[in-house]
Amino acid sequence: MAQWTEIKMRCPACITKKKEFSSVISWVHGNCGAPMEISDFAEIRCTKCNNASHIQNWRWSCPNHGKIYFEKQSVPATEFNITVAAALTAKMGKKWLMTFLDHLGEW
Ligand SMILES: [Zn+2]
Ligand SMILES: [Zn+2]
Repeated sequence: MAQWTEIKMRCPACITKKKEFSSVISWVHGNCGAPMEISDFAEIRCTKCNNASHIQNWRWSCPNHGKIYFEKQSVPATEFNITVAAALTAKMGKKWLMTFLDHLGEW
């Protein structure tokens, strides 16, 4: 069973671009505004639309770059590792993170 938790973390694209001022934000679904969740199977879903899919299949934005969207091609998997580990290890535990890393893979 996948363990889901709401996404409250910094933007991996901004971390890649070394924008240190990027802050921890609650992620919401662009289509409906509902909170997004992430699982230890490296999937993301909207809590309302329930459309779970691997991180690699999503694109995202943040207040720093407005309508410019990033996807897997623009951000290395390691940056996602770091971002998620920093934001969620304390809350979800090391086992959750290890499972997450296994499923995230490389791209
Ligand atoms: Zn960003
Ligand atoms: Zn939604």
